[in-house]
Amino acid sequence: MTTTTAIRGGAWLTEEIDAASVLTPERLSEEHRLIGRTAEDFVDNEVLPVLDKLEAKDWALARDLIRRCGELGLLGTDVPEALGGVALDKAASLLVGEAVGRCASFATTFGAQTGLAVTPLLCFGSESQKAKYLPGLVSGEMIGAYALSESGSGSDALSAKARAVPQPDGSFLLSGEKMWITNGGFADLFVVFAKVVQPGADLASGQFTAFLVERAFPGVSSGKEEHKMGLHGSSTTPLILQDARVPAENVLGEIGKGHKVAFNVLNYGRFKLAAMCSGGARRVIAQAGAYAAQRKQFGQPIASFGAVRQKLADMIVREYAVEAMLYRTAGLIDGAADGGRGSDAVLAALEEFAIEASILKVASSEMIDAVVDENVQIHGGNGFVHDYPAEGQYRDARVNRIFEGTNEINRLLIPGMLAKRAVKGTLPIIAAARRLQDELLSPSFDPPGDGPLDEAAKVVTGMKKVALMVLGTAMQTYGAGLADEQEVLTRAADVIIDVFAAESTLLRASAAGGPLHEAAARVFINDAAARVEAVAKDALAAMTEGDMLRTLTAALRRLLKVLPVNTVALRRELAAALADRRVYPF
Ligand SMILES: Cc1cc2nc3c(=O)[nH]c(=O)nc-3n(C[C@H](O)[C@H](O)[C@H](O)COP(=O)(O)OP(=O)(O)OC[C@H]3O[C@@H](n4cnc5c(N)ncnc54)[C@H](O)[C@@H]3O)c2cc1C
Repeated sequence: MTTTTAIRGGAWLTEEIDAASVLTPERLSEEHRLIGRTAEDFVDNEVLPVLDKLEAKDWALARDLIRRCGELGLLGTDVPEALGGVALDKAASLLVGEAVGRCASFATTFGAQTGLAVTPLLCFGSESQKAKYLPGLVSGEMIGAYALSESGSGSDALSAKARAVPQPDGSFLLSGEKMWITNGGFADLFVVFAKVVQPGADLASGQFTAFLVERAFPGVSSGKEEHKMGLHGSSTTPLILQDARVPAENVLGEIGKGHKVAFNVLNYGRFKLAAMCSGGARRVIAQAGAYAAQRKQFGQPIASFGAVRQKLADMIVREYAVEAMLYRTAGLIDGAADGGRGSDAVLAALEEFAIEASILKVASSEMIDAVVDENVQIHGGNGFVHDYPAEGQYRDARVNRIFEGTNEINRLLIPGMLAKRAVKGTLPIIAAARRLQDELLSPSFDPPGDGPLDEAAKVVTGMKKVALMVLGTAMQTYGAGLADEQEVLTRAADVIIDVFAAESTLLRASAAGGPLHEAAARVFINDAAARVEAVAKDALAAMTEGDMLRTLTAALRRLLKVLPVNTVALRRELAAALADRRVYPF
């Protein structure tokens, strides 16, 4: 493996990364912390106390809260000052996302405004479109929404049926019904995707295109609020377009290039969703710790029971890993986008780190689901009733695995994008896989040092090689047919996700030092190695047989041969820190 400061998406798979080059939560500037605290205070003091009203669908209140976010500068962290924004870097946007994630319903409203309305305008809007709409969206006077999905096209978004028929004066008549539109009940501006088709022409010939559609345009209306499992304080409705007349200047980007708008917006949306899951999880973990410390059974706080301590520690470790990946990715995007301030540079950086965004989306949504689930369990019967927040948080979290591209779709994308970059030659995966084959034929024993994270570092190096082995074998076995092998692709994704997470925790803990950081990293890496071994074995058995399978599984065992860690003791340390401090301990 070569050592560089990786600035290419996915490059960490074949390179050794220097801990000094990685952004971690511990390395944030005072300016970052200040904006994070501002956002957190706003959510704690102004949003959470009125959650009941939001859940009763008081959309005037939701509008007011978005306007307050505008006053505080929270809506324009990605937007240049000339357009009303505050032009901060992605690490700052991430901190705001984490803070807003403390209230899932409001985070969804906020996310649609900033991630799904501001981002496409910023990256694809013409100068006049930006001047017309961005200041209102950034001040919160105007509410934005994003209308891609339809009843028949969710994951397969490009098969949308909404049509846009060009008119002699250059305008378009839009017709169709969009579904699941966040902020649908009260948004003023919708980014709508439809196919441009000549009058009477077949939809199949249509060019998928994004439009800026104002609610005030004739023919635009919203359907009824959906009755959802959770997120009751966020509006979700259909958007109905009945020959809605949209002027020519409201085409966003180019005709026929709507997919570029849709997919790039999703890249950033996934990163922001991960920030919100992370911030939400930190709040839930603090509640779990506080509850376990005060709730007594058998004369003792339940936090003193090993079975409960183990749950508290697992919550911490999973969140620790997600944070490590998040800040690392924010640092990569900011590094590639020159501080994240120019829209073309940001667009290129978001595309570059699309693999990391998908990894974050899957890992963070599954992390928060595990955290809210165990929080209900720690609360016992109190976790199942409305009087405690655990029940609502459990319902609210579930959708994160569904929107911004389902986790199945994101899992397929992760190895798919890596394989594409390998074939194109932009990532040296094929050469690295070949080098690995030679290395496995002549194994050398290289004992780890005796530093607290040396053994973990060796495991991470082994895990990276396993990921290369699985991906390389899959590419060799299936060639151009790889996309059809979903069972193998999803297993490869699980390995790759664990590799990025394990390496990120290692780099974070190495940079931060100290027993608690080391405990979190060692537990995560120990458990990830076991998961990777099991999943990789399964994938290799699906692809190879006989001598080849025997050789590869022997290599797998050798790469992941580690001394087991006393995770029981390390988990106790982590759980004790949470129960004592009653806040997430990092
Ligand atoms: C609360 C909420 C808010 C939302 N907000 C918005 C919004 O603001 N704007 C917007 O445009 N949309 C929004 N959505 C829609 C959301 O993006 C879609 O629900 C999501 O993309 C999944 O699409 P679907 O519901 O049609 O499921 P489907 O695509 O029908 O998927 C069903 C299942 O099949 C799996 N599947 C589908 N295709 C494949 C495949 N090729 N390979 C393997 N598995 C596959 C999926 O992973 C899933 O498990 C929202 C949804 C919800 C619930």
